[in-house]
Amino acid sequence: MFGKGSKLYSIFAMKCPRCHEGDIFETRNPYKNMSAIHKNCSHCGLRYEKEMGFFFGAMYVSYMLNIALFVTAIVAYFVLLDQYLEGWALMTIYVIITAFLVPVYYRLSRTIWLNFFDSYHPEKRGAK
Ligand SMILES: [Zn+2]
Repeated sequence: MFGKGSKLYSIFAMKCPRCHEGDIFETRNPYKNMSAIHKNCSHCGLRYEKEMGFFFGAMYVSYMLNIALFVTAIVAYFVLLDQYLEGWALMTIYVIITAFLVPVYYRLSRTIWLNFFDSYHPEKRGAK
């Protein structure tokens, strides 16, 4: 399920959606130059930014990820933390966590967006 050949591998390892070999981003650390993205896959040559403004759609993915985090935080608050934590404290913690996760969401949303448009082709793994 998480091995090569699955979309989840490509998304969480941030590898090329077509060959699962080449890195999408220039650095592994999202907090270090978060937006530095390769133009093409180093293994199969897949062009990541298919057209100008291609990654604009990744904003919607990022929005959905943030909504998922917010709903999780609200449910966790009312189920587990309601008696221990004030509402303003939850919102403060939520904002801090969200700000800390911006680079991670930025990269995850772009990788998920790329995976919408390309699927795994194992025959492309060694090709250039
Ligand atoms: Zn590739």
